[in-house]
Amino acid sequence: MEKEEHLICLGIESTADNLGVGIVSSDGRILANEVEVHVPKTGGIHPREAAQHHSAEFGRVLEKALKAAKIRSKDIDLISFSQGPGLGPCLRTGATAARALAVYLNIPLVGVNHCIAHVEIGRLMSSAKDPLTLYVSGGNTLITAYESGRYRIFGETLDIAVGNCLDTFAREAGLPYPGGPAVETIAAKGNQLLPLPYIVKGMDLSFSGLLTAAILKLNEGQCRLEDLCFSLQEVAFAMLGEVTERALAHTKKHELLLTGGVAANKRLRSVIQLIAEEHGAASKFVPQKFATDNGAMIAWTGILAYVSGLRTDVETSYIDSHWRMDEVEVPWRSSN
Ligand code: AMP
Ligand code: MG
Repeated sequence: MEKEEHLICLGIESTADNLGVGIVSSDGRILANEVEVHVPKTGGIHPREAAQHHSAEFGRVLEKALKAAKIRSKDIDLISFSQGPGLGPCLRTGATAARALAVYLNIPLVGVNHCIAHVEIGRLMSSAKDPLTLYVSGGNTLITAYESGRYRIFGETLDIAVGNCLDTFAREAGLPYPGGPAVETIAAKGNQLLPLPYIVKGMDLSFSGLLTAAILKLNEGQCRLEDLCFSLQEVAFAMLGEVTERALAHTKKHELLLTGGVAANKRLRSVIQLIAEEHGAASKFVPQKFATDNGAMIAWTGILAYVSGLRTDVETSYIDSHWRMDEVEVPWRSSN
């Protein structure tokens, strides 16, 4: 039992283009958080190529993380890994490394839901206790809050993620990778709101029609790229804002947390801040290096799960590329 009070967990993140190895202690200290990003030579993320990158880089990233944490492998008490959702080949690479380490070091393994990890690192880093969370990244877009034993999803994208929408548009426009920051910079010089499809269905969102329409406008060449980037952001973020605001009004949470890679966007931050203020909630933002995919969030969630009794058998530690966060029991939240 004494050991459980000072657990050290090594967490592996490999759901998409980021390979992360984080080392976190059970008192919430981040001892290491090494991230290596796979940048495709052309086009978007190719799952197999990203997986090959992760397996080629894993040894080096692991070594860097141990060095940064100033620990040796025998000091690790627990291994956790992103078990889903994500790209199959990438998830499998991380899971294989996690299993190998757990077996080699003879320590427990915990599979972690990637989306839940984004919320948990957000709570840890922003000291939010029980927030409504807008999680926006290259692969995910959802609005979630804890209720009756689980993280419930109040709204989500029906097709592509908002980050994917910005990245794909940017690629079509010949902007540098990743596209989100490039679109933001150019949008700052735009001021004319062009008509683009605004698609909210109930509490869910759709970005694929918006993307197609934006690319069509781009190819027509009738408008300034600055105005098109501005309009793409305004429409996408207004859609996110509408659903987030409704979920906040419904759940009456006192905190509104923004996380995921797209959380770096200043315009989106201002939308979230405004919504929070209007509803008397505190707005919370995760620092950038913990907002994008990283190993520390997996390690921290691994600790929360392990301390509340959860374990993953190596024999049945299959990845689940479509694992929804609302399928997961979160016993560590049941007391608050
Ligand atoms: P993640 O999937 O969490 O690793 O985050 C990567 C996503 O965040 C990509 O889609 C990026 O384009 C997006 N992103 C990063 N910075 C910004 C920004 N300033 N504005 C909009 N999107 C961004
Ligand atoms: Mg990423």
